[in-house]
Amino acid sequence: MYCQEMLLLACLLLLLGGQPPLTSTTTTTTLVAAMTIANQDLERYFRPANATHSYTSIGEERLTMDFYNFAFLNWSYVDSQNIIREIEFSEEKARYGEGRVLNVTGRLIHISTADDISDDFACTPYIRGTLGMPLPEKGVSWIALVRRGRCTFEDKVKHVHQYNAAGVIIYNDKQVMQLEKMQIKNKNRNIAAVITYQAIGLELASTVDKGINVTISIIEGRRGVRSVSSLNRTSVLFVSISFIVLMIISLVWLIFYYIQRFRYMQAKDQQSRNLCSVTKKAIMKIPTKTGKMTDEKDMDSDCCAICIESYKPADIIRILPCKHEFHKNCIDPWLIEHRTCPMCKLDVLKFYGYVVGDQIYQTPSPQHNAPSAAATTAAAAAAAAATTTTATATGRVS
Ligand SMILES: [Zn+2]
Ligand SMILES: [Zn+2]
Repeated sequence: MYCQEMLLLACLLLLLGGQPPLTSTTTTTTLVAAMTIANQDLERYFRPANATHSYTSIGEERLTMDFYNFAFLNWSYVDSQNIIREIEFSEEKARYGEGRVLNVTGRLIHISTADDISDDFACTPYIRGTLGMPLPEKGVSWIALVRRGRCTFEDKVKHVHQYNAAGVIIYNDKQVMQLEKMQIKNKNRNIAAVITYQAIGLELASTVDKGINVTISIIEGRRGVRSVSSLNRTSVLFVSISFIVLMIISLVWLIFYYIQRFRYMQAKDQQSRNLCSVTKKAIMKIPTKTGKMTDEKDMDSDCCAICIESYKPADIIRILPCKHEFHKNCIDPWLIEHRTCPMCKLDVLKFYGYVVGDQIYQTPSPQHNAPSAAATTAAAAAAAAATTTTATATGRVS
C-alpha cells in the first residue's frame, strides 16, 4: 500500500514537472485522466491473487474500475416421485451485486409479505416466507428468492438480511440479455446478494410454491475486472463537458460576430449614403463655364484629361478649386465616386468644408463656410505643382 502511494506521488510529480503550463481546464483533464490510468495500472499490478474481499473500500472502487463476479446457482430437491433432482448449469446463471462475494448454501424461501402472499418484491420490512408461511428461525441457513422492481436492490437486501438470510437471489422481472451489477450501498452485510434471469427465478418460485423443499447454493464463478469502466466514465464526462462548453463559447462568439458585422454593414451603408449626398451638394458648388477658353491656356488645358477630347464651344466645363478643368459630364461621375481631382488629388469635400477630420457634415462646417485664404493658397499651390508635373511629363514624352 505504501509502495503504491509512493508510485502515485512520483507519477503526479512527473506529470506536474514534465508538462508545459497549460490552461487550467486542460491541465485538470490531463491530470485526472493520467491519474486514473496510473491508478488502474497500479491496481492491476498490485492486485493480490486471492482478492475476493479486498476491494470493498469505497474510495478505491470508485477511482479504479469495476470488479465483477458471476455466480453458479445449483439446486436440488426431492420430487413427488421421491427422486432427488439436482440442477447444475455449466455456466454461471447469476451475478453478484456490490458487496461481499460469499459461497452460501441454504433452503430456498420464496418471499411474500404479511398482507399479500403473491408480493415477492420484498419492498417492505414485513416479509414472510413461501406463501405467507413464517420465515425460518435463527440458526437455519436460508436463501431468499425475491423479484426485481418497485424498490431498490439496497432495500430488498436490507429487508431479507434483517431476518438473517444467508443469501438473496433477485430475479429479473423481465427478460434481459445480460445481468447487470446491482448497486448496493451497504457493502459489508454478511449476505450473498446475486441477480439472475427471469426464467430461472420463475422456475425456482414455482418449484418452491408447490411446497417442495429446495436446497440451493450460490457459488462464486468467474471474476474479472473491467479496467476501462472507470476511465470511460471520467473521460466521457470530461469530454462531454468540454464539448458543451466549447459549443456554447462558439455559439456566443458566432452570435456576437454576426451582430457586429450587421451593425458595421449598416453603419457603412449609412456613411456611404451620407457621403454620396454630401458629394452631390459639393459638386453643385463647383463653378462651370461653357465652351473653350481662347485666352492664354496652353495645349494641355485644351482637352479634358478624362476623355482626352478637345473642348468644343458647346461643352459645359467644370472648373475645380485647383483650377483643373474637365467636361462636366466626365468629372461629375468621377467626383461622386472619388471626391478628388483626378489630376492633383485635391479633396473637394475637404475644400468646401463638408469633411473635417473623419466627420462628415451635411452643410459646410462653420470654420469652412467660406473657403479661407489659406485653403485657396494651398489649392493654388497644389495646382501649380500639378501643372509643373504635367509639363515635365509632357516634356519627357516629347
Ligand atoms: Zn471629358
Ligand atoms: Zn486639380
